[in-house]
Amino acid sequence: MLTTESPSRAFDAIVLGGSYAGLSAALPLARARRRVLVIDAGVRRNRFAATSHNFLGQDGRAPAAIAADGRSQLMAYPTVQWVDDTAVQATAAAGAFAVSVTAGDTFTARRLVLATGVVDDLPPLEGLAERWGRHVFHCPYCHGYELDQGRIGVLAFGPLAFHHAMMLPDWGQVTLFTNAAFEPEPEQRAALTARGVVTEAVPVRRIVDAATVELADGRQLPMDGLFAMGRTHMAGPAAEQLGCAFDEGPMGTFIRTDPLTKETTVPGVFACGDAARAAGSVALAAGDGVMAGVGAHQSLIFR
Ligand code: FAD
Ligand code: MG
Repeated sequence: MLTTESPSRAFDAIVLGGSYAGLSAALPLARARRRVLVIDAGVRRNRFAATSHNFLGQDGRAPAAIAADGRSQLMAYPTVQWVDDTAVQATAAAGAFAVSVTAGDTFTARRLVLATGVVDDLPPLEGLAERWGRHVFHCPYCHGYELDQGRIGVLAFGPLAFHHAMMLPDWGQVTLFTNAAFEPEPEQRAALTARGVVTEAVPVRRIVDAATVELADGRQLPMDGLFAMGRTHMAGPAAEQLGCAFDEGPMGTFIRTDPLTKETTVPGVFACGDAARAAGSVALAAGDGVMAGVGAHQSLIFR
C-alpha cells in the first residue's frame, strides 16, 4: 500500500486537523518548504461561540474568522496541500505512515501530527446543549468578562463545580446549583461563603429563556450566564489506532507528548492542541502547534 501510492500522495508530514493547532503545526513545516498535507473535517470545538477571547491580537474575533485567516495564510505556501475530509484510519509501516479518509483516498508521510482536538460530552440537562457557547460556558477566562459582572449560575454535575464556583465571583454574583451532584464539605462551604457564593440545593430541571434556571420545585431563577463542566473525548481515532499512550486529565484523556518536541510515545507521531493537553485554549493550541511542527521538521533532519 505505502509503496504503490502516487508521488502526489506522499508527503513529508501529514497534519490531521486544520484548526488552530494543526494550522500552527503546518506553518513551520511549510516555511521549511516541506511537503505538507492538512486533512481537516472542519468541526472546531469552539464553533458554538460568536467570539473568541484571550488570544493576543485576535481578542473578540469570530473563531471561524481566526481559523480562516490562518488557513489562507498557510495555503499561500506552495508545498502545502489541503483535503477537506475526515481521517478514518492511520497505520504505521516501514518508517512511514498511511492515512485514509472517508472518500477512500490514502495518503502517506514520514511524519504525522495529530491536531484533531476533543469533543465535549455535554452534561445531560434539558436546554443546555442548544445554549452551549452562547449562554452556557466552561471557561471563565473565555466568556466571563462579557457577562458584565451580572448573575452567574454554576451548574454542578460533579465536584469540579467547586472550582468554577470559587473562580467565578471575579466575574459576577454567583449562585452554585449543587443539583444533587455535589455536596460541599464544611470547609468548602466556608470558602464559598467567603467568596460571596450563594448555594441552591434544589435540583435543576431545565434551562429556559436565555439563561434562566428552572428548579425541580418550579422556581425560575434568571441568570445572565451559566457555567458547567462536562467531560471530553478524543475527536479522532488516529492516536488510538497508532498505539499512542494517553494521560488522564480532570475532564478526560489526552495524548501524552514530550514537553519540548511534542512527539508522542510513537516515534514520528507528534500531537498538539486540545488533543494533547489537559485543558486547552486557542493560544495554547497555536503554541503547541508550532512546537509540534518544529519538532516534526527537525526529526526529519536529525534521525
Ligand atoms: P479544534 O479547534 O477543536 O480543531 C480540531 C480540528 O480537527 C477540527 O477542525 C476537526 O474537525 C478536526 N478533526 C477532528 N477529527 C478529525 C479527523 N478524524 N480527520 C480530520 N480532521 C479531524 N479558547 C480560547 O482560547 N478562547 C475562547 O474564547 C474559547 N471559547 C470556547 C468556547 C466554547 C463553547 C468551547 C467549547 C471552547 C472554547 N475555547 C476557547 C477552547 C478552544 O475551542 C480550543 O482550545 C481550541 O479549539 C483547540 O484547538 P485545536 O486546534 O486543538 O482543536
Ligand atoms: Mg488543529
